[in-house]
Amino acid sequence: MNNYQMYIDGKFCEAEGGARTESINPATEERIASFPRAGVSDLERAITAARRAYDEGDWPKFSTFERGQYLIRIAHLIRESAYDLSRIETADTGKTSKQTTFIDIPVAANSFEYFAGAAVEVKGETLNIPAPALSYTLREPVGVVGAITPWNYPFLMAAWKIASSIILGNTVVFKPSREASLSCLELAKILERAELPKGVVNIVTGEGAVLGEALASSMDVDMLTFTGSTEVGRSVMRAAASNLKRLTLELGGKSPNIVLADCDLETAANGSLCAIFMNQGQMCVAGSRLIVEEKIYDKFLELLVAKTKKLKIGDPADPATDIGPLITEKQKKRVLDYISIGKKEARLVVGGGVPAGLNKGYFVEPAIFADVRNDSRIAQEEIFGPVLCVLKAKDADEAVRIANDTDYGLAGMLWTKDLARATSIARSLRCGTVWVNTFGGFYNEAPFGGYKQSGFGRELGKEGLLEYTQVKHVNVDLTPGGKTLVASWFNV
Ligand code: NAD
Repeated sequence: MNNYQMYIDGKFCEAEGGARTESINPATEERIASFPRAGVSDLERAITAARRAYDEGDWPKFSTFERGQYLIRIAHLIRESAYDLSRIETADTGKTSKQTTFIDIPVAANSFEYFAGAAVEVKGETLNIPAPALSYTLREPVGVVGAITPWNYPFLMAAWKIASSIILGNTVVFKPSREASLSCLELAKILERAELPKGVVNIVTGEGAVLGEALASSMDVDMLTFTGSTEVGRSVMRAAASNLKRLTLELGGKSPNIVLADCDLETAANGSLCAIFMNQGQMCVAGSRLIVEEKIYDKFLELLVAKTKKLKIGDPADPATDIGPLITEKQKKRVLDYISIGKKEARLVVGGGVPAGLNKGYFVEPAIFADVRNDSRIAQEEIFGPVLCVLKAKDADEAVRIANDTDYGLAGMLWTKDLARATSIARSLRCGTVWVNTFGGFYNEAPFGGYKQSGFGRELGKEGLLEYTQVKHVNVDLTPGGKTLVASWFNV
């Protein structure tokens, strides 16, 4: 068992009182590590350290170029440890090694490197004002940023939030999910090796209801960036009202995936499987509502079912595995409960049970429900597991109506060869990202975030960086002779 420590003010430490949480490998149910279960007093130490690093330290005063040198070093160190990091992420979360090796870890390194350079583009403007004055804006850091993340992409989301906030001069108190803290504590070791000044990033582990709540309501935290469920997002928003913190909320989804009759069937079928079963369906952007045009409905469903039966379920550490376990026993139960609900609401056409021989570990067979009504619970509630709802639409217009008939608005997918029609449908979808003939393209260059109850604010892209800044207007009077209008306002 590896016993991790948390990272506060540049030091690795235990929680006051020494409480610890154990990490369970979801594929084997074995205890693999433990880490501190911090209390509010630990969190307060972290906030004080971040406050000091921001208010008195050099970090916000460094140039973007100087801060960027640290981020580049962090990116190199992540790449040097990539093999170990992906193994740890797989063991802690059940994410397949294919996923952690090719996505989570390298993409995290790329984000540190990318934002090191991209942040030079975050700058103010000279304003064309109707007065003899030099009028310009500055983009300044917000201050101390609290960051809270879920368990489905732990290392990657830590990288996104930490890289984009610190490059602009902010300091951070980061709270990962209790279900997936190990890779984030590995990141703490990398930050130390990169000699990041103390207090710039503090990583505190423990219960969301205790630490998350305290971080969101703290009067000493200037901004909160939260990724997680819509339900918790709502309570975070209430807590953040304490000092009117800047807030970004990246929340849940029930994303539509529209398949039109003129698509390339094979590509659309493979893409649609990826959109729901990758990461065991534990993706905020999962294409969990598949809306298929009537003309190809039966054929497409048949193709999907045949392909789903071929997916290899098992040990996530095996590079050949397609589907690993769910994150926890609680999540397995939640998904199986939804499958029971689905059996009453629609027609289960494949999967949905516990795979034979995999009773140990939190495995659930990928499930497909056909003939789903969009007002059923399985079509409206976020399941966050490998459960696909297939719905029929008579044409593209009806598909778009069904697609938008949800409280969520995170992403949408569309499969068609008619790109003119695709761009028109992309405008009609009420969501923050639309993928046409593809799924899951996240780029450091492109903003990502929600419409409706999927939240607000953006991660990545220029918009994502701007979230971590505030604008200051500076006005320097240049009236010839120095006699400004305000100086003669009162004739005294
Ligand atoms: P969750 O909302 O239960 O937890 C998210 C984080 O909030 C965790 O770190 C948790 O400890 C913390 N937390 C719990 N209670 C809190 C409270 N009262 N105050 C403050 N923080 C608290 O979500 P989860 O189960 O970890 O993750 C799954 C959810 O995350 C899904 O709804 C998924 O759609 C969403 N998600 C969204 C995105 C996105 O970018 N939009 C990305 C990934 C996951």
